[in-house]
This record gives sequence, structure tokens and C-alpha cells, in this order.
Amino acid sequence: MAVIGAGTMGSGIAQVFAQRGWRVVLVDAVAEQLERALGSIRRNLDRQVERGKLAAGERDAVLRAIEKGTGLESARDCSLVVEAVVEDPRVKFEVFSRLGELVKDDAILATNTSSISVTEIAAHASRPERVVGMHFMNPVPVMQLVEVVRGLKTSDGTVNRVKEIAVELGKTPVEVNDYPGFVSNRVLMPMINEAIYCVMEGVATPEAVDQVMKLGMNHPMGPLALADLIGLDVCLAILEVLHRDLGDDKYRPCPLLRKMVAAGRLGRKSGAGFYDYA
Ligand code: NAD
Repeated sequence: MAVIGAGTMGSGIAQVFAQRGWRVVLVDAVAEQLERALGSIRRNLDRQVERGKLAAGERDAVLRAIEKGTGLESARDCSLVVEAVVEDPRVKFEVFSRLGELVKDDAILATNTSSISVTEIAAHASRPERVVGMHFMNPVPVMQLVEVVRGLKTSDGTVNRVKEIAVELGKTPVEVNDYPGFVSNRVLMPMINEAIYCVMEGVATPEAVDQVMKLGMNHPMGPLALADLIGLDVCLAILEVLHRDLGDDKYRPCPLLRKMVAAGRLGRKSGAGFYDYA
């Protein structure tokens, strides 16, 4: 299989597939990003070895199973491609139109998009019935859910195969239809957005907002700490899709979120968001 995009999600997806015995080609447009991704996979596996959950030999086999690729051509012979490039429709459309021409007729093309229409992405590939959403959660090695998104033309065979693969990976697939934000982000992002409005309007500090949701609603993590983990730029991109495609002002991104993204305060990945990670 191939993973396109070796960022936060792509590196986790590559790790999970390699740990279940798949041969993986990890592709990124930026060579240093591949090195960073392999470094982070190695650190995750080292931690599992230290905890006695993985033998050192198994760690080495997993690392050997992941090959670096610099161009989409590296995905040519794969039976499954999972795309995890930036949440930008133009970039995804271009990747799918090239992949559609490149891969074998029976290969499945999956997208890890958080909010972009799977039906529209599929329309850019030559065989839309083989295109499906395979939406992993962050951090991929830890989280149980895979939201399997059925586009308008996705075939039953494609949906069923991707569900089987999710189970083989030790995950639980949940099938949903293609609609802006699917279920996960349609429900999660308005909560994160409202938490940001609370901070902007001076209702409470980020710490207090998160504590209310953790202690009062039993959430394992507060919405603002979660936004920092997801990436504030990713949250903004998803809210913009919900706002535009559902046409309802209840999804309007909070101005404070826009301001933080404009300032480069993107959460954990930039060292600061609602909290400091320096
Ligand atoms: P990221 O910014 O960490 O990584 C994106 C990677 O894609 C970068 O390494 C970039 O160099 C690479 N890239 C960009 N254009 C490319 C191209 N044309 N070819 C190859 N590589 C290219 O982003 P991320 O947080 O890993 O998100 C990736 C996808 O997963 C997005 O669609 C996002 O919405 C989705 N997602 C993210 C999360 C999350 O919590 N971050 C959760 C679920 C789904």
C-alpha cells in the first residue's frame, strides 16, 4: 500500500499498516518531511519496545517495511493508496487525478480528508467507484475509529474491502455517507469553535474551558487542547468547509481562530496554540 503525505496523519497511518504486516511506500512532496515522519515512527516504536509491548526485532522489521517515495509514481503497483496530504481541495484533486491514471484498475484510492467531499475528490479520479473516505483519527496508532465515507459513486465492494482492512488493522470502522464534515467533524468542530468563542468573549481562560469539559462532561481532553493537537489551521479549514457547504452561519469560524492561524500559532506542531509546548 502507499500513503501519500507524511505529516501528522500520514506517518501514523504508515506505522499502523506496517505493524500489521503491510509493505508500505510513504510519499511526500518534501524530502525532509519523510525523514521527520520516519523519525517519529521510530520514536513511537522505541517506546513500545521500552514498555515491553514490541520485540526489538519486530521494530526493525516494521521500519524495513516502510519505503520512502518521492513521487506519486511510487504508488503505481499498490492495491491500496491512502491519501493524507494537506486539507486543500486543489491539492487533493490533483493528486487523485494523477493517481487515477497511474494505479491498477482494481486498486482502491482512499482519502483521509476531514471535510472535503469524497464524491468531489472521486470525480477527479478515473474510477470513482474505487474511491472512498478512510478517515483515521489522531493519533492514528492509538485511536479506535475509522470513519468510512461512502461517496455517491463508491461501490459496495470498495466500502466492504476498506471496512475489512480497518478491522485487520485492529480498528473499528463506522460507515457514514458523504456530507460536509461527515459525522465526526460535523459534531466536533462546532464544539471546538464554541470553546474558542468562550475564550474570545472572556467567558473563561483556555484552562478553565478545558477543565469544565473534562470534569463536567467526562471528555478525556478539553476541546482547546484537542484543537492544538489537531492543528488550528486544520480546524479552520474544516470549519470553512462546513460554513460554505452547509451554508449555515452556525459554522462561522471564530475570529480568534482566524487570528491565531494568521499569526502562525497552529498548536502543537508550531510550538504554541492555546497552550505553550516549548
Ligand atoms: P500535515 O500538514 O501534517 O501533513 C500534510 C503533508 O502533506 C505534508 O508533509 C506535506 O508536505 C504533504 N503534501 C502536500 N502536498 C503534497 C503532494 N501534492 N504530494 C505529496 N505530499 C504532499 O497534515 P495532517 O494533519 O497530517 O493532515 C493530512 C490530512 O488528514 C488532511 O486531509 C486532514 O484534514 C486529515 N486529518 C487530519 C487530522 C488531524 O488531527 N491533524 C485528523 C484526521 C484527518
